[in-house]
Amino acid sequence: MKEGKKYGLIVIGGGMTGLSTALTWALNHDLNKEPVLLIEKEPKTGGYVTSYEREGFLFDTCQMIPNLSEILDYLGIEIDLKKFKGNYMRIFVVNPKTDEVKVLELPSGVETFKKQLMEKYPNNANEIEKFLDYSRAMYLELYNLKIEPSVSDIFKTLIKCPKIVKNAGKTFKEYFDKFGITEHEVIEIFNVFAEFSALPSEQVSAIVPISAMNSLLDGAFRPTKGFNEFSRKIEERLESLGGELLLNTKVVKILVEEGKITGVKLENGDEIYSDYIVTTVDPKLALVQMVGLDIIQELDKKYAKKVEKVKMSCSSMNLSIGVDDDIDLEALGLDCGYNVITTGGDSYDRLFDAYEKGDIGFNNDRFHVGVICPSLTTGGKPNLTVRITPVPLGNWVDLRENDIEEYKKEKVKWAEFFIDKVEKYLIPDLRKHIKVLDISTPATYARYSGSPTGSVYDMAPYTNNFGRTRLKMRTPIEGLFQPKFVHGVFGCLLAGMQVNDMILNGKIMDGNARYKP
Ligand SMILES: Cc1cc2nc3c(=O)[nH]c(=O)nc-3n(C[C@H](O)[C@H](O)[C@H](O)COP(=O)(O)OP(=O)(O)OC[C@H]3O[C@@H](n4cnc5c(N)ncnc54)[C@H](O)[C@@H]3O)c2cc1C
Repeated sequence: MKEGKKYGLIVIGGGMTGLSTALTWALNHDLNKEPVLLIEKEPKTGGYVTSYEREGFLFDTCQMIPNLSEILDYLGIEIDLKKFKGNYMRIFVVNPKTDEVKVLELPSGVETFKKQLMEKYPNNANEIEKFLDYSRAMYLELYNLKIEPSVSDIFKTLIKCPKIVKNAGKTFKEYFDKFGITEHEVIEIFNVFAEFSALPSEQVSAIVPISAMNSLLDGAFRPTKGFNEFSRKIEERLESLGGELLLNTKVVKILVEEGKITGVKLENGDEIYSDYIVTTVDPKLALVQMVGLDIIQELDKKYAKKVEKVKMSCSSMNLSIGVDDDIDLEALGLDCGYNVITTGGDSYDRLFDAYEKGDIGFNNDRFHVGVICPSLTTGGKPNLTVRITPVPLGNWVDLRENDIEEYKKEKVKWAEFFIDKVEKYLIPDLRKHIKVLDISTPATYARYSGSPTGSVYDMAPYTNNFGRTRLKMRTPIEGLFQPKFVHGVFGCLLAGMQVNDMILNGKIMDGNARYKP
């Protein structure tokens, strides 16, 4: 970076959204005239998508992605991916009173999945078929949606996306109930898709689980060399095109003059200038702390109100566990994308009620835990990841900063609780084989992402916080964008393309929400 240089675009944050934004810009501009600079506060890019090593064990934060090939082709990135071909997910439904466990296996492939469900649950075969076919058609309608629809686009949407229009305001539960599926196990299976967005089915916007379900059924993948391949490859390509990275550098202010972007101010006091800024950090952090709500209020009161009302997603706990070579993880069926151990029924709804009160609602009668075995894909020393949502920020940050001993005690207490469940229902004698245990808490997520609430999945997709009701990417400040339309690697890479499309008036995606090559 040269002193006094003015950039075509400055991107704040080097996660998937920021990397994709910067690379898409680089692919579409002459960087000698309109250079791009990506600023990241950490020493490396990737944000929430990263891999880390502890005592020779390699862990990933992320676990599973849908097919991204069209986006990766556009970005000019090649990543070796393993496709889960058999069961890509297993759900262990536990009755905590009797310790009875029912295992539900979800095979890959839309048609295989449908056939298996219809055969297994003949009483609901018609209802299952209707639900899956309707949902598939609704998912495909996403290709006809525009990001910033004009009046004529809105009329076209009514014709081309009737299912989305009809169900846009519905929660998944409201939507699902219309199909009359009564088999508990089938309800259990579909609720797990809702919980992938860390919201219960009675609160999540229907279109989110429908999209997660359809995209993952089309194919669930994991990078064979670890998730940090994403940042490494995008970074390499960005730099090869002449894009610039400024690591270990924190943006503290977004500079605005007369309603227009002028640049950013760094923690060391330096200012860097540009006519376009794309912020990819937590929108509350960007718009309230870095810009200032008063500035937004002056320009657009409605947008300012929306910023205030935005609900961020919950936080999480994560256990990264390195084990010895004496457990045969493959024999336990762990070579699949995801395992969920759950007390089922309305467990996640009730866990969420506790979360909303600032409590951790897990107990011996109610739990919901994801278990993954990355090493069966990436090789290396055998390891496991245990994922837990919803967890509130609570006093985790406070404890970590002011009472580290109590912080450690609290996180170990919860880790023991979750290991107990995995040991009891999935991996017998797990404890005896543990070599390394690394525990992430909401304080970990708050620190790495900069999100004041340690939110792991960005703005939560409630019906009044998603789609048409989402905080818009184009802010009222000329030249400032915040492309945060849905969480996940797929959504974030796509968002980077969408925001460039907006700046370039449809050059990349013709204003569409989904990319069609
Ligand atoms: C534990 C976990 C597991 C997940 N698993 C999956 C999964 O299996 N599949 C999937 O598709 N998705 C998964 N996700 C979601 C996915 O990882 C995220 O949606 C996505 O990575 C978010 O990318 P982002 O670039 O929008 O934000 P982030 O990754 O949060 O990136 C923001 C970046 O901004 C930087 N930053 C913050 N403040 C500043 C500042 N002031 N100045 C400069 N830089 C700053 C941060 O350091 C960070 O690098 C998971 C998320 C978590 C946390």
